[in-house]
This record gives sequence, structure tokens and C-alpha cells, in this order.
Amino acid sequence: MKNQWIRGLFLKLGYPLMLILGGLFRIKKEKLQKFLIDINNSLVKNSKPELVRRILLLLPHCLQQSDCKIKITYNVYNCESCGKCEIKNFTQMARNLGLELYVATGGTIARRIVVNTRPEAIVAVACERDLSSGIVDTYPLPILGIINERPFGPCFNTGVDINKVKEALQFFSGNNKEVL
Ligand code: SF4
Repeated sequence: MKNQWIRGLFLKLGYPLMLILGGLFRIKKEKLQKFLIDINNSLVKNSKPELVRRILLLLPHCLQQSDCKIKITYNVYNCESCGKCEIKNFTQMARNLGLELYVATGGTIARRIVVNTRPEAIVAVACERDLSSGIVDTYPLPILGIINERPFGPCFNTGVDINKVKEALQFFSGNNKEVL
């Protein structure tokens, strides 16, 4: 509970102040966003884990292989599991754990998904910008953010370390069984 209070103070007061100071000292915004994600994650992980039933796993659209013609934004289970991108593994994981799994094309859609699914906890994969704003906006919901990998640059055929997602899901669900 104490951590929750500290997290709120940091997200709503400390972070905006940091952004102002960062602007004055010309610190790269992405560095500050990453700092916010790291602090948020450690505060969430160091709070007494409450086992939750409704976990939302939010993925960015850029995780989908760019030449895949299947529409997965409204229903991720349209994925035909060809294995060319990691969406296949996530659909399997979501089925195994009974998660809500959604792919968002941006911050606005992601917020709408959160409102509609009413999760008790969120695991989100995205870039520093989207994750940091999502973490601030969804407070006090517990959320663990995982930064995506961008070997081809931003928003294109991105990836993510599946083990980090798995660990985050296990933290909330308390489920240690193999999920992949
Ligand atoms: S795994 Fe699914 S989403 Fe990814 S390329 Fe194959 S069909 Fe498309």
C-alpha cells in the first residue's frame, strides 16, 4: 500500500517535475521515459503481490509482421499462427493463462481497451513514449511495462523478449506453470 502511494506521487508529481528539469538540462526525453518505466516496475514488483484474476496483456501493432495481411487489431485470434512474428506465441500464452489479449494501434486505442476490459492488472509492451504515458494514465492500476525491441527502427517489425512478458504475467497471476 505504501508503495502504491509512493508510485502515485512519483507518477503524478515527480515525473512531470523531472520532465521540466530534463527539458532545462536537455536530457533526452526517451531516457526519462525509460527511467519512469523502470521505477514504476520496481515499485509494482516490490509491493505485496496481490494475485489477480483479470490480467490484460497489451501488445503494440508493430509487433505484427509488416507483410501479414490478417487484421488482428479487433480480434488477435484472427492470427493464423504462421510463426513469422511473435503474435503466435502470445495468442497461445493468452489461451493457456486465460488472459485478455489485445493489440493496440496507439495510445488512444490502448486506453479504450483498458476501459472496456476493466482489468485488475496490466502487462504492456510498447515503446518508451507509449509505455510512460500509459503508466501515468492508468494509475492506480498495477501495470508492468516492457519496452519493445526495434532492430529495424521505430514502429516496424518490432520484437519483445518473451521471457520478460512471461515473468511479468507470472508476477500478477502467481502461475509458475509453463505458459509457452
Ligand atoms: S504469426 Fe499471426 S500475426 Fe504474425 S505473421 Fe503469422 S499470421 Fe500474421
